[in-house]
Amino acid sequence: MVKVDLDHLYKQYPNATDYSVSDFDLHIDDHEFIVFVGPSGCGKSTTLRMIAGLEDISKGDLKIGGKVMNDVAPKDRDIAMVFQNYALYPHMTVFDNMAFGLKLRKYEKADIKQRVDKAAESLGLTEYLDRKPAALSGGQRQRVALGRAMVRDAPIFLMDEPLSNLDAKLRVSMRAEIAKLHQTLNTTTIYVTHDQTEAMTMADRIVVMSMGEVQQIGTPQEVYDTP
Ligand code: ADP
Ligand code: ADP
Repeated sequence: MVKVDLDHLYKQYPNATDYSVSDFDLHIDDHEFIVFVGPSGCGKSTTLRMIAGLEDISKGDLKIGGKVMNDVAPKDRDIAMVFQNYALYPHMTVFDNMAFGLKLRKYEKADIKQRVDKAAESLGLTEYLDRKPAALSGGQRQRVALGRAMVRDAPIFLMDEPLSNLDAKLRVSMRAEIAKLHQTLNTTTIYVTHDQTEAMTMADRIVVMSMGEVQQIGTPQEVYDTP
């Protein structure tokens, strides 16, 4: 749970003639659930990746808890990220997938086990810890990706279309699970989707993007109920 400030962020990819993200200015409060919406190619992922540190910022400042983070390595950002394609390691078990980031950061073995077991239990994955991702359903794989993000107790959650590979019914139930995680873990969450229903049901505030620019920022009512 922490404030995140996007101070006039710009992104120009190497060799691109134009900015992919222009003047993205947003101030996110403790524990807000922010949703970025907009058509494919409008700059949602690029913005999320700048927050995560996976893309350099061309211009502007990213602040977390008031501190400028532009040059801080991804692993030192206290951010957990969930990707659209889950990004699970196929050769590792569910346990090892969930433990990966903790091992990378040199957590104690007993601590790792405790954290993974706790996340697995809350996601209904306890009996699958020894399996490989290929032996899981789509919904279970998505839960592993959530579990991997949960184990560090990071105060910031970034999610890039985490439900887009799931069928409609599962999407609805996973939506509720993610909303619950946001509450129980007390995180500040930034969630990317092109699904209006997801945005409407989950967001405290919605950021509507188009062609690299922010078109509108408001509550679901302000964004979708305007005449
Ligand atoms: P999204 O689902 O966000 O639209 P894409 O499927 O368009 O993502 O892109 C997948 C990957 O390809 C991402 O890592 C993105 O950074 C990269 N990518 C997208 N567009 C380009 C491009 N014009 N040139 C190089 N890489 C790109
Ligand atoms: P969205 O997530 O909204 O689909 P992206 O952030 O993936 O949009 O892409 C925004 C723009 O940046 C698009 O025009 C895309 O082609 C371009 N882009 C994304 N990744 C790269 C990349 N690695 N290199 C060059 N251009 C990219």
